Amino acid sequence: MPTEMREIRINPIVPSESVLIATVRGSRPKKAEELAPRDLRAHVETCPFCIGNEDKTPPTILATPDEHNWAIRIVENLYPVLGDDRTQQSLNLGLQQTIDGYGRHEVIIDNPNHGIALYEMSTQHLAMLFDTYRQRMAELYASDQRLRYVLVFKNFGPAAGASIPHTHSQIVALPVVPDNVQSEVEYSHRYYEKHHKCVFCALIDEALTFETRIYDRESGEVRRKIDVGQYVIERGDKFIAIKPFASRYEWEIHILPLAHQADFMNSSQEDLDDFAAILQRTMARLDAVLGGVQYNYFVHSVPHDSEQQSNLASYHWHLEITPRTSVPTGFELGSGLFVNTISPEVAAERLRNADI
Ligand SMILES: [Zn+2]
Ligand SMILES: [Zn+2]
Ligand SMILES: [Zn+2]
Repeated sequence: MPTEMREIRINPIVPSESVLIATVRGSRPKKAEELAPRDLRAHVETCPFCIGNEDKTPPTILATPDEHNWAIRIVENLYPVLGDDRTQQSLNLGLQQTIDGYGRHEVIIDNPNHGIALYEMSTQHLAMLFDTYRQRMAELYASDQRLRYVLVFKNFGPAAGASIPHTHSQIVALPVVPDNVQSEVEYSHRYYEKHHKCVFCALIDEALTFETRIYDRESGEVRRKIDVGQYVIERGDKFIAIKPFASRYEWEIHILPLAHQADFMNSSQEDLDDFAAILQRTMARLDAVLGGVQYNYFVHSVPHDSEQQSNLASYHWHLEITPRTSVPTGFELGSGLFVNTISPEVAAERLRNADI
């Protein structure tokens, strides 16, 4: 593998998205995100999400296992980006179009322990957390016909946009399918029509079996050898964690079910147990390599819109984990071309070799 690389990689799922892999030594095209000191306290008197302070948040929507002895608790977001109290109609003024900001925005307090990191939570707790996501997604979809997509995500650390240090995730129910998801849905559907195969399944197969050599046209020397499993970070009975070939973020990792499944909400308890183990080990690897990693993660699942049925064979749900290690530059925001300064192959190798 060359130690220095400068190449543009096309995202195999959404070909309109590409990333510039620029690992040339000594070049520092991006400013590193400052490491945030981790808040290790288990309980903070003034924190509204800590146990005993339940009256400082909006009322409980859902608590597991129960409201007095909760391990996970869902409350209304105090500063919702969308709400159900708006009555104004959609506007259409020439080129300026808006749609009603109807929706729901809720906070999931992941754990009673204030400063606990995800990889420090038990796999049972993580399985319960994703089961709670699933349950609340189903309730929200059922609550209003206008909702098209329910996005579950987590911000951890100030660089990832977390405004409250107590570990938490969020749920936003939207009247539209977000662009990122819609692009994945559309392109994977096109791939399916052409190849009669799910592109995510094809990528998993490739990650598990691909082996090839790329030769230099002039000298005949091996320019690059692609090894079996070089993108695989973790593998369980039912789930796999991979480093995408065209990762936009240096340490981005995706976790997918090995068997085709479009809808996260159809996961079985057995699925969630295996998923939790893979997630925990993956987060432990990220923490071992990066130290106090700040990150976002989000669930991408088939939207419950009118096209849902026709996308069940072509779409494949997954969790995207995007650690924040550098500040996006004007070049990236202006061009849409993200710059990744570590080759995904090297990042995957370091993560696999991490001592956990
Ligand atoms: Zn707290
Ligand atoms: Zn699939
Ligand atoms: Zn995705």
